Amino acid sequence: MNYQNDLAFARQQDEQDPLKDFRSRFLIPKHNGEDVVYLCGNSLGLQPASAQQYLADQLDTWKNLAVEGWFQGDDPWLDYHKSIAGSIARIVGAQENEVAVMNSLTVNLHLLMVSFYKPDNKRFKIIMEGGAFPSDQYAMESQVKFHGLDPKDAIIEIFPREGEVTLRTEDIIQTIDQHKNELALVLFGGINYYTGQFFDLKAITDAAHAAGAYAGFDLAHAAGNVPVQLHNWGADFACWCSYKYMNSGPGGISGIFVHEKHFTGKELNRFAGWWGYRRDKQFLMAPGFDPEIGAAGWQVSTSPILLLALFKASMAIFDDADGLDTLREKSVRLTGYLEFLIREINQEQGEEVYRIITPADPATRGCQLSVVCKRNARGIFNYLAQNGVIGDWREPDVIRLSPVPLYNTFEDVYKTAGLIADALKAV
Ligand SMILES: *Cc1c(COP(=O)(O)O)cnc(C)c1O
Repeated sequence: MNYQNDLAFARQQDEQDPLKDFRSRFLIPKHNGEDVVYLCGNSLGLQPASAQQYLADQLDTWKNLAVEGWFQGDDPWLDYHKSIAGSIARIVGAQENEVAVMNSLTVNLHLLMVSFYKPDNKRFKIIMEGGAFPSDQYAMESQVKFHGLDPKDAIIEIFPREGEVTLRTEDIIQTIDQHKNELALVLFGGINYYTGQFFDLKAITDAAHAAGAYAGFDLAHAAGNVPVQLHNWGADFACWCSYKYMNSGPGGISGIFVHEKHFTGKELNRFAGWWGYRRDKQFLMAPGFDPEIGAAGWQVSTSPILLLALFKASMAIFDDADGLDTLREKSVRLTGYLEFLIREINQEQGEEVYRIITPADPATRGCQLSVVCKRNARGIFNYLAQNGVIGDWREPDVIRLSPVPLYNTFEDVYKTAGLIADALKAV
């Protein structure tokens, strides 16, 4: 891709963008009367303009039908989640019955650990990426302790080599192999929240299986951002949140993937609830748990219809964008443009004032660039915010900027880079 450092180029890219009409389907906050440049979809995606209507429709159903809403109306609540499972299945490369939309992310991670982490004397270790999102670290620690084990013995974290910031796939595979006799589970993020590194999930899955362990993934930063093929890669399980790249609103509903090879596995524990019971017999209320065949059998509680409505509003937009392929193509170019412009600034400065720690190969990253600022990082972040650019801040000196293909433009990226350059003089 030949990029150019000028506004006319950016505007021309926007003009030619096959996804250009999607921006208007989101509500963009204002700063001094103008749209902000919102580069924070890695943390909380923007509100679909249709979200209010989706919510209002369900409030109306509640008002007009009350309990009959479970079985009547245009979109009976009992099956309301099903269309969403289809959309999300396309996004994560799963069969529809391998996906269930339920709970929140860390809760789902715990539920899946109940099934896929059953340590014994021989196999009890979990391998994960060093510096995983704190909630995942706490979840793993507490799971290990729950089984009476010491996290120091049971959790193996892989860190980058000396002088490097991201992990090498060969090191991940080698660590898995090294612990293969004691390994129960490899649990990785799809994309590391801090560095933005997109791991080779297929290679990790294969290595975990070769070691006789399960492979599970937390796709919080990957789902809706980068293409994944959970089914074909043979991952055992995965979970994600939907409020980041999938725009379902703060604390929005999460989801799980369970590979079909585990649907009938009697050796898997689960914490059951009536919503996971076989649908054809759910209302017989019989004793003894008989799960629905599929990821749906991991559901516990009654569907939160209002949260599902918000998610459905967003999934309709993904459906219209026809899945992830077109989005990914734009995303690679958009993030590449930001990278190009930041490099230009460094070149002008004659030093690497802004060090991008996210991998340079587009195949190993998604939307996000994590930028270490060598001069007055906090001041530069504040300067961006004061000028209407919303990124996010990670201690001690990292700014994460995520141009999202559904609603960000090349002009957004151009404007951001201009401010990043100006900030060096202004703060
Ligand atoms: C965002 C994120 C979470 C947040 O979990 P919640 O249960 O939704 O609060 C957990 N793990 C990772 C990797 C994340 O990126």
